[in-house]
Amino acid sequence: MSEKSLEDIIPEVLVIGGGIAGMQAALEVAEKGFKTYLVEKTPSVGGRMAQLDKTFPTLDCAACTITPRMVETGNHPNIELLTYSEIKSIEKDGTNFKAVIKKNPRYVDVKKCAGCGACAEACVLKGKIPNEFDESKGKRSAAYVPFPQAVPLKYTIDPQRCLTVTKGKCGKSPKCKEACKAGAIDFGQKEEMLEVKVGAVIVATGYDLFDAKQKPELGYGKYDNVITGLEFERLVSSSGPTKGDILINGKKPKSVVFVQCVGSRDHTVNNEYCSRVCCMYTAKQAHLVRDKIPDAKVTICYIDIRAFGKGFEEFYERVQKEGVVYRRGLPSEIYKKDDKVVVKAEDTLAGEIYEEEADLVVLATGIMPRKDSKALSEMLGLEHTPDKFYAEKDPQDIINTNVDGVYLAGCCQGPKDIPDAVAQASGAAALAAKRIAKKK
Ligand SMILES: Cc1cc2nc3c(=O)[nH]c(=O)nc-3n(C[C@H](O)[C@H](O)[C@H](O)COP(=O)(O)OP(=O)(O)OC[C@H]3O[C@@H](n4cnc5c(N)ncnc54)[C@H](O)[C@@H]3O)c2cc1C
Repeated sequence: MSEKSLEDIIPEVLVIGGGIAGMQAALEVAEKGFKTYLVEKTPSVGGRMAQLDKTFPTLDCAACTITPRMVETGNHPNIELLTYSEIKSIEKDGTNFKAVIKKNPRYVDVKKCAGCGACAEACVLKGKIPNEFDESKGKRSAAYVPFPQAVPLKYTIDPQRCLTVTKGKCGKSPKCKEACKAGAIDFGQKEEMLEVKVGAVIVATGYDLFDAKQKPELGYGKYDNVITGLEFERLVSSSGPTKGDILINGKKPKSVVFVQCVGSRDHTVNNEYCSRVCCMYTAKQAHLVRDKIPDAKVTICYIDIRAFGKGFEEFYERVQKEGVVYRRGLPSEIYKKDDKVVVKAEDTLAGEIYEEEADLVVLATGIMPRKDSKALSEMLGLEHTPDKFYAEKDPQDIINTNVDGVYLAGCCQGPKDIPDAVAQASGAAALAAKRIAKKK
């Protein structure tokens, strides 16, 4: 892009997605003095990292790291945070971009809401709705904040569940409205459209997880003691539904089997790529089991161990010294036996088929492109790589895209851990700022 053609550039940036990558990018652009719009689909920023308990390989508390960054994002004078909002349309407008952002109705006036939770307490559906943040292992009300540290700490009324929104009634009058002393509940709210013009766009929309039901032989969805890695994160987290106790049907598991590469490096489900984080998050979770239940037997079934990052190999060696057993080869079948499950696999190093009884099986489901990622790429004209993640401009440049002024950050470009997502986001912010600074 020539200097001349950037003369009319608008010195503002739109960041799409408020996970760790999107927040990092927005904060970096805002710190450079530019106005930034941060659009997040869900009621709070934080993304997947907010769901994690500890982070590998340092075992730092994820919430302690991300919460200050969420608060900073919410308070930064140069960031206009648009949560519970979506991109309705976005197109190139000369060298700039014109976007229409849909702000969904929360049915709560955020200026009045004090975040006290009286509405959630009073809701007739309290404790009846699966909480997505807890991977449906915990329950919430129809009036909710996804988690106590949410930013903004403003309640939302779930339009799919609330009896007033869906059926026009909730007893004689909505209990949440009666309970809200601030008068914040407003069932008359409608969606709002906001048009913005910016000089650069950073896409940071993150990832989905592989649906383990696509591998029915592993028993996920059939046996309640077969869970995913992200479900385990909520189970082991002190802010989770069991307050951090690893409990399966009310009991501490005494034998736990972790299964890696579920939906990664797997031609049978057309996912050839490595998800890059599962070897390490499984090692971390195995450590957490040994830490919380020292007499538990912990086995990890793996294909290869990819411990490529700083401190990763050392961490992999540490968990083995802690008594975690690695067995090469993935299970062919998991079946029920009384209240346990049996993992049937071939140990390809020992050359033997074995069966191991477990109280709990944790499946390391792989990182997938988001199911809705095409909607944005079609509007922006972005290309995808064959694995369906957003395409980088070339393999040596993983931030630029085929569209001038659109940059990628985090797992929307491909699986990566938090440090790599943050580094890429800082790079995207630097390139976006360089582009819009031409005007200044
Ligand atoms: C079980 C598990 C454990 C893990 N443990 C670790 C660990 O210990 N250490 C580590 O380094 N990494 C770990 N990871 C990886 C880590 O989760 C990712 O590196 C990190 O979350 C990537 O952040 P992100 O911002 O790219 O994506 P996300 O966290 O997915 O955030 C994307 C955000 O964008 C929003 N969004 C999506 N689409 C749109 C849209 N169209 N419009 C507006 N908003 C949108 C989403 O709602 C979300 O808030 C783990 C992963 C898993 C699955």
